[in-house]
Amino acid sequence: MQYDKPMITKEIIKQVPKVELHDHLDGGLRIQTILELAKAQTIALPSENPEKLHQWFVRGGKQKSLSLYLESFALTTKLMQNRRALERIAFEVVEDLAAEQVCYAEIRFAPILHIAEGLTLEEAVQAVLDGLQRGTRKTGMPTGLILCAMRNQSPSVSKSIAELAVAFADRGVVGFDLAGDEIGYPAKKHLDAFQFIRSKNFNITIHAGEAFGVESIWQAVQLCGAHRIGHGVRLVEDMGIEGSRIENGFSYSLHP
Ligand SMILES: [Zn+2]
Repeated sequence: MQYDKPMITKEIIKQVPKVELHDHLDGGLRIQTILELAKAQTIALPSENPEKLHQWFVRGGKQKSLSLYLESFALTTKLMQNRRALERIAFEVVEDLAAEQVCYAEIRFAPILHIAEGLTLEEAVQAVLDGLQRGTRKTGMPTGLILCAMRNQSPSVSKSIAELAVAFADRGVVGFDLAGDEIGYPAKKHLDAFQFIRSKNFNITIHAGEAFGVESIWQAVQLCGAHRIGHGVRLVEDMGIEGSRIENGFSYSLHP
């Protein structure tokens, strides 16, 4: 039998029910929402033309430039510093995912990046939960929220985010994450936070194995107790694939 076309087409992917486990709240705003929030908050945008603005947001990915990519997040987080904006964006992400046949989604965000204009960490988390829950009521799609700590911030901040995650465990928060630049910021610096989460039998996911190599993944799993790895594309360097040039690794137990 010959297959002229790929068996799994974009159309099929669109139609099948899906589970979304890795969605950054600040990475999926609608262009129209960005335009409206920026106008309301008098924040300058690179362009007020929707198509040009869209192109500005995707240019980092297209040019494979991490710094351009991160500029996009700097702008979106600037727009997400009050309760109404957070609630709206969380609600809209549920609507958008449900429209793509997602049947369960875990959304993540870093509360510490949303308190620049006076929100408390608790208020930021509650605003996002309110939006997610309003989205669930409208679409029927259940969601969970993951709270991210940042690798480049102090371990004491991470510990407070871990405590926040556990405090909200019965109100919609399903896990604790560590995000941010890996190089120079090893996960093991935040062991206090991870140990607290483990002592509460709660859930840990860690961004590891992207900017840094497989050692970063091993450290996340072996030392920090990660139940799930985020991004983790460098895992391929530690896989044995028969007939390929990739040799079986599994020898890494180094901790950068
Ligand atoms: Zn991520």
